[in-house]
Amino acid sequence: MLGIVFDLGGTSLRAAAVDAAGDIVSTTVGDTPSVADGTPDDQLIPALVSSMSDMSSRLCGDGNDVRALSLAFPGPVRADGVPLNAPTVWQEQVLGPSLLTALHKAWSGTEIFIVNDVAAAGYHLVAQGRRDFLLTTVSSGIGAQLFTDAVPVGGAYGGEIGHLRLPDEEFAGVDCECGGSAHLGAICSGRGTLEMARRRIRQDPQAFRTSWLHAQGISVEGLTTYDIVAAFHAEDPWTMRLIDATAQPLGRILATVHAAAGTTDFPIMGGFAMALGEEYCRILARHARNHCHWLDQDWDAMIGLLDHEQPGLAGNAWYLAQRFSSLSGVRHA
Ligand SMILES: [Zn+2]
Repeated sequence: MLGIVFDLGGTSLRAAAVDAAGDIVSTTVGDTPSVADGTPDDQLIPALVSSMSDMSSRLCGDGNDVRALSLAFPGPVRADGVPLNAPTVWQEQVLGPSLLTALHKAWSGTEIFIVNDVAAAGYHLVAQGRRDFLLTTVSSGIGAQLFTDAVPVGGAYGGEIGHLRLPDEEFAGVDCECGGSAHLGAICSGRGTLEMARRRIRQDPQAFRTSWLHAQGISVEGLTTYDIVAAFHAEDPWTMRLIDATAQPLGRILATVHAAAGTTDFPIMGGFAMALGEEYCRILARHARNHCHWLDQDWDAMIGLLDHEQPGLAGNAWYLAQRFSSLSGVRHA
């Protein structure tokens, strides 16, 4: 037994016990404390540390076995392990070093790491031998992490593509949870696509009446992302046009990264993308190709879904073992 890894999500907190080889031994899941569930702002970090502590006891007993701990965090993290904020979980609260300090207090004597959650998932690909790629997550929000020679690059600024502002007229005035407007994550994510669907229904109810969704008796108020995914798999033309429109800006951004950095490997993860399936990647590939067509790029081969349900935990486990063994190596040298 080496230690424990955590993956902090919008609603759930996942944890896994990890052995010295970086493999997952057992897992458990709990809730992410939030203001919405009644936790006051100033108690979010103590509540999180307390949940992590309970989960650690469930997985590892009294905690004496936890030599190293790594938390995958859904927001920008500085190179020194200090997370800046997590708008998808805790809105505008700025964290600073308080979380890292609280973890050190709760697990004194344990090596503690905090990594960005998309970077943690990227380590799952590094463990499989992939070294240069842009990993993009399409779930309730959108994030990305560029890896160069098996190392995540860009520091706290890298990867926040979800908050790029889109110039397209159709997206004007769509609010992002960060307080901005017409941001990629507010439009192309699962939540964003749902918002765009509602806008389209209100703007052109006549067109919606021809849709598979309308035939199922689904109204603008009752519509969910699950309905959109089901309609996509039913090849409903109205829904295909919707997904085509919301995927286009992301396809353009992948093409821009390719043109700027030469990246040719674009794995896609996240609940919404995984639910839509490989066909979603084909749509992204078509938009990327339209935006950047020269030479002989095979965009269909360059964009594909990640082959793992929980890449964040698996990648973080591998990362924990690597970091711990390099630290031990330094101490024993
Ligand atoms: Zn934003």
